[in-house]
Amino acid sequence: MSVGPIGVLGAGTMGAGIAQVAALGGYETRLYDAVPAAARAGAARLGEALASGVARARWSEAEAETAAARVEPVAALAQLAGCPLLIEAAPEDLELKRALFAEAAAACGPDTVLATNTSSLRVAEIGVGVPGPERLVGMHFFNPPALMKLVEVVATAESSERALALATEVARGMGRTPIRAKDSPGFVANRLARPFFLESLRMLEAGVADAATIDRAVRGEGFRMGPFELVDLIGLDVNLEVARSFYRQGGEPERWRPSPIQERLVAEGRLGRKSGAGYYSYPRPEDEEEGAAEPPAEIVPRLYAQIANEAALAREEGVASPADMETAMRLGFNWPRGPLEITGLLGAERVVEILERLRAERGHAYTPAPLLVAEAKGEMG
Ligand code: NAD
Repeated sequence: MSVGPIGVLGAGTMGAGIAQVAALGGYETRLYDAVPAAARAGAARLGEALASGVARARWSEAEAETAAARVEPVAALAQLAGCPLLIEAAPEDLELKRALFAEAAAACGPDTVLATNTSSLRVAEIGVGVPGPERLVGMHFFNPPALMKLVEVVATAESSERALALATEVARGMGRTPIRAKDSPGFVANRLARPFFLESLRMLEAGVADAATIDRAVRGEGFRMGPFELVDLIGLDVNLEVARSFYRQGGEPERWRPSPIQERLVAEGRLGRKSGAGYYSYPRPEDEEEGAAEPPAEIVPRLYAQIANEAALAREEGVASPADMETAMRLGFNWPRGPLEITGLLGAERVVEILERLRAERGHAYTPAPLLVAEAKGEMG
């Protein structure tokens, strides 16, 4: 709270939401957009969101008014001078973000901490050419920022403790839950969620069950939505773009290979709810699932084994602490339990057994992480 004004760069979906939680957290907030009308529109949307929160008793009218008054739309980067922290939520374009940070750094001086909300670019890459790489960090919010509590504070090899501590403190001040993440493909939550989607698709491809049956089995474990209904909501095209980005950035590992079924559906224009059809057709008939048979017993262990494996690979790479991985999945994806708890449910020995069997049948996408193999040996004593 003692921190001076927070600058938010980009007043779109994420920027306006970030400015809203900053203002509610008590920070004076300057909302900049390359399009001045967009900064004003973002501030107006944020005001409406604050007002509608009063109607839903999320905060009082006085709190909403005070928060709204803390947000100032600005038309020039020079007006961000004096901000100790800038949070960038401009379009997902490397060159654009680089240029924006270079300009913002020049306007603000050498001590301003620069945080990017990128979800798929490498933070260090964005800092190339920006003076003072030690003040560059990631602050990865989830959509919508006003509702999603998780913020991944991303550390590059050069990020200073001072910069990381400020980002963490401000995330807390905004009422969010920060976790620490390494600057690595997709950071924590999106990465650990990869198998939730990809292994479900592989089961669909292999004919283990249809989408509705897999969704039902996963919901039976306490997940609010199954993978296919969730992707229908997110958009198959959006989910496929994420898959392609991971595949590219990871050096094309087999386990991250995008699904041919999803590629085909996207090519056919079946993008999910927004196009009227995806894995399901909309509106969905109410009796669609009636009479569906018991889901095959292999669905959940197979999905869990791949979730455990991705988490083990991420642990080996030091992507985040085990506790932060649990927090990431509970808060970033509303999972009922995190990947380490899932690993514990099956036990490393069983996970490795499932993976080895699948690897023998289906190949390298199932190669168990060395860490899991070691833990399985430990369990066997
Ligand atoms: P958006 O398109 O809604 O908003 C981007 C805003 O940036 C627009 O208002 C645009 O006018 C403005 N802009 C364009 N060029 C600019 C520049 N040079 N300087 C300042 N502003 C500029 O995008 P969004 O969905 O809010 O995403 C913003 C960032 O947040 C992206 O990096 C995205 O990957 C990341 N992100 C998005 C989500 C999501 O679900 N939407 C979630 C997490 C992270």
